[in-house]
Amino acid sequence: MGIHGDYMEQDYSVVYRNVQYPRLEFKTGKLLLILPEDEDEDKILSRYSSWIEEKKKIINDALVASKDKEIRTVYDTDFKTIVYEFIHQYSDDLGKKPNNVFFRVMNSKWASCSRNGNITVNMLLRYLPERQMSYVIYHEMVHLFEKRHNIIFWNKIEEQFPDWKVLENDLFVYWFLVQREVHAENRMLVSSFEVPVFDQFLLTDSPGRREHEQCIDWSDHC
Ligand SMILES: [Zn+2]
Repeated sequence: MGIHGDYMEQDYSVVYRNVQYPRLEFKTGKLLLILPEDEDEDKILSRYSSWIEEKKKIINDALVASKDKEIRTVYDTDFKTIVYEFIHQYSDDLGKKPNNVFFRVMNSKWASCSRNGNITVNMLLRYLPERQMSYVIYHEMVHLFEKRHNIIFWNKIEEQFPDWKVLENDLFVYWFLVQREVHAENRMLVSSFEVPVFDQFLLTDSPGRREHEQCIDWSDHC
């Protein structure tokens, strides 16, 4: 019962599905519980109260930090030119280039790298400083070699971006800023306010899932 008082109805939502294990998500910035039909929500809220509080704090800190940052605007064509320049540069450095590069507005990630070696870049990235922009491109290009965020992956990232942890956090903070600014500017562009699919905001109470809990990402490889 204890925790229930801390969670007013508007603070989270629950859906019951034909799933084997409970799942907790902060994908939209608000807690969503996906529960097996016979699961008790109070029990789950209580069991994961520290995880829930920690995630809420991270999201709230990012919202606060986003107020100190500013977005800049680069025209679409200039943005694509900048991205292609980074791709050429990193293709030389890494000795591998993507098969295709696509651009589109995405609601849940800054960029992604497919199994076929195609990189998709979120057009909203054009609001970010070039340093963060270049990091996103490099991150995806390292995925051409290593799909997972393992030690091999991060070692390769560290060669080019020793401050990758700061940059990862920046990307999270900027996500809120861009969503807020762009949302205000053009309501049609982004349909909903979402937290990118950082794996650390997903928790499945299933065996084998644990190894991914520490995985931080805004792309789709975890
Ligand atoms: Zn990644």
